[in-house]
Amino acid sequence: MSIDLQIAGRQFASVNPATGGTLGEFECATEPEVHEAVARAREAQSFWNDIGVRNRTAILRKFQRDLHQKKSEIAELITQESGKPCVEALLTEVLVALDAARFCIENAFCFLRDEQVPHGNVAMKTKAGRILREPCGVIGIISPWNYPFSIPATESLAALVTGNAVVLKPSELTPMVALALASLLHKAGVPEAAFQVVVGDGSTGAALVNSAIDKLVFTGSVPTGKIIAQAAAARLLPVVLELGGKDPMLVLSGANVDVASSGGVWGAFVNAGQACLSVERCYVHRSLYQAFLEACVAKTERLRVGNGMDSETEVGPLIRERQLRNLELQVEDALSRGARVLTGGHRLPQRGPNFYAPTILADVTPEMLIMRQETFGPVLPVMPFDSEDEAIQLANDSEYGLAASVWTRDRARGEAVARRIQAGTVMINDAVSCFGISEAPHGGFKASGQGRTHGRYGLDEMVRIKYLDSDRLPGRKKVWWYGYGETFAKQMEGFLDLQFATGLRRRLMGGLRSAGALMGKRKI
Ligand code: NAD
Repeated sequence: MSIDLQIAGRQFASVNPATGGTLGEFECATEPEVHEAVARAREAQSFWNDIGVRNRTAILRKFQRDLHQKKSEIAELITQESGKPCVEALLTEVLVALDAARFCIENAFCFLRDEQVPHGNVAMKTKAGRILREPCGVIGIISPWNYPFSIPATESLAALVTGNAVVLKPSELTPMVALALASLLHKAGVPEAAFQVVVGDGSTGAALVNSAIDKLVFTGSVPTGKIIAQAAAARLLPVVLELGGKDPMLVLSGANVDVASSGGVWGAFVNAGQACLSVERCYVHRSLYQAFLEACVAKTERLRVGNGMDSETEVGPLIRERQLRNLELQVEDALSRGARVLTGGHRLPQRGPNFYAPTILADVTPEMLIMRQETFGPVLPVMPFDSEDEAIQLANDSEYGLAASVWTRDRARGEAVARRIQAGTVMINDAVSCFGISEAPHGGFKASGQGRTHGRYGLDEMVRIKYLDSDRLPGRKKVWWYGYGETFAKQMEGFLDLQFATGLRRRLMGGLRSAGALMGKRKI
């Protein structure tokens, strides 16, 4: 049986990628259904906003407690639907969502408080300015299958705590995890209409983009991101785009090979390489190249590949056949151009339908597909470099710019290299784990997207900034209102001199020239 998504008309099935077994059957939400969901969300949003941030954080706290209680149950569901080892589901999905809730609970009140804006311009000193942060309204969220819980959860929690309603369209490959998230949020007290899930494929996603949502947060591939950006531009819909990556790993001369090889193997094979932040290309200083490759091969061959429900499993299956075919094309291309497979490089049909052996490729070159296109599978392609400038140039030679990692014993040197890398995040001596730092903004440069999720910048995306200006002298006409003329023009020249002329004397003279205007009454 093919375990690709089964769509018959509007029906589709959620399939366990490790076994090929069907977990549940669903129907794609139609365009009118999506529009109705958005209309219901809009009605619910004002109530949800009006209950205030303290009540909303109390609901998030309950969500956090319930999720913590059900952590193993949720992790198992994630493993069944997405294939990753259960411990990864616990750490990279449940823990990330628990911590995102913690961040929202701790920070939402201060974030949403009115912010005073002191005025530097002398003419505006009589005004009290404040920045208000208002919810956008209804946020549409479209999410992928590779982190089916933590991605929609972190984005939804940020949207909800700031007073928005959410309509979530999860990946058609992982609808059950999204429905479990909805159930937890509803049980905690989020009104059902304020958080809704519409299941379905790309056409359901397209219906959401074209509905009356106020903002869209999309996480997925670059090709889909481009389609969405075009549709959004046509109606000036604001969008956050969290797209693919081709993250480089730079192992500098003198790096600890044992640490770097363990980090590289984990960074490349975590979630079977299906992480947007996966190590996808590895550049190693020539002095360490051989030792690094040998260490990576030895460590890769010790990895246990299997069904994620088995607690011994370290690498699970890929999500579907299409993913394997894409990976095989890239490996074949690399081999045909001179790369060498040091370990792996083949399927593992005896484990199940979608298993691929974790693979180390040596002697890759920059023009190979495996160094240019997102692989999204358990392959670590490695090539040597001679100088730091060359390594940085290789790292930046990519259409993507999501994240990167630099491996060195010298943190200052690592940070200096990091500053020259074109990526939204650069980690020194670790990879991927930045996604678990709730305070850290997540998002990419170049084709990896625009906007940010997570942290303060993630909250910023969920609000509209309103500037409130309140004049402290309501009975006084403003100097700049009508009543122009030559005298007034001279007075205003003086006023500009008062503030910007060089030299104290010229400023004082300007002040004297402008005093008349400040004291006098407007004629109109
Ligand atoms: P995808 O682009 O195929 O699908 C993502 C979502 O978009 C799914 O829910 C899908 O149904 C929906 N969709 C598809 N066509 C659509 C359309 N025309 N209009 C609206 N919605 C549509 O991506 P995927 O295969 O689910 O996920 C893997 C990709 O996501 C990888 O490229 C990965 O790097 C990226 N990703 C990025 C991040 C990040 O934070 N930057 C995180 C995880 C995954």
